[in-house]
Amino acid sequence: MITIPENLWTRREVLYKEMVKYMSHCYFPAYSDDTSLHEFAMSEFRRIRDTICRNGGIGEGLKLLTDNGTSPFDAVQEDILREILRRVRKDFLFQQICDIQKDLLASVARTVKNHSGYIDTLYDEDNGDAEFDDTPAVVFHRSGSETYYETAILLNLHMTDTKLYCTLHGDSDENIVLPADALLVECLTALSHWLEEHGFTVSDDTDIAVCDVCGSLDIQTQAWVDPNTHVYIGETEDDRDDNWCEECEEHNYFCSLAEFKERMRDWWRSADSLLMEKISGLRPGDFSSEAGVHDFAAACERWWESLDYNTQRTIWKNNNKE
Ligand SMILES: [Zn+2]
Repeated sequence: MITIPENLWTRREVLYKEMVKYMSHCYFPAYSDDTSLHEFAMSEFRRIRDTICRNGGIGEGLKLLTDNGTSPFDAVQEDILREILRRVRKDFLFQQICDIQKDLLASVARTVKNHSGYIDTLYDEDNGDAEFDDTPAVVFHRSGSETYYETAILLNLHMTDTKLYCTLHGDSDENIVLPADALLVECLTALSHWLEEHGFTVSDDTDIAVCDVCGSLDIQTQAWVDPNTHVYIGETEDDRDDNWCEECEEHNYFCSLAEFKERMRDWWRSADSLLMEKISGLRPGDFSSEAGVHDFAAACERWWESLDYNTQRTIWKNNNKE
């Protein structure tokens, strides 16, 4: 039973002291820029205000108004915000985890959007609605006055407006719908792997940079990086000297993976049939004589597409005479 001091609403310093009791000794917010810190302090202020009002049987904090329409909390707000900010500590590793969570959520949301805003993770719609035998199990948190964790089976992912939600079947044997940011970051990682494994994710090769000369992904570029969080800020300049390819051991320009794949595909298509035969092991004579040339070329193209990127690259590097 919490006892509310009698003069809580009338004496400014009593209310201030009461609010301080509900604060944590230290705060570790996800982001440390001024706007995020102010939003963080405001949300903590509101949480404390509403908790005190609830405990005092007042209901929502904002309803507690004096005759002239102001709330007693208005008088202490500035001091409380200052005290919250004084208790803020910067945990740079935690901030990196929050960035990773943001990236994972954006990537999963992109995949869900590409599937008309809905992915069933319990029933395999492409397989006569049979159940997946590896439906993701997740751990999620619910934030109330205290944060606690639960486990659940993920039934589906869906978009509402622009936000990603998930339907979970939890320990309470009920279905719960929550924003996907309630899932722990490890579960988001496993989920993005699951989506790729089951063919939901279409990788976008236009976003991936490779060496323009050899197509290697083993490349580096000079960039501006926050020395504390190691978060990427931006490129130094768009200059070849800022880039390095570990495979070529040279400063080279970069291009997209999509562009490099296309370049190799064009080379293979225009290769002469003797070279195609030598590399692929397919023989023009094995195809019917009328459409022989065409069938042979089509078979060679299929063979090329069945190879993984690095095998294609090795063949291209060894045989491209340009
Ligand atoms: Zn290279």
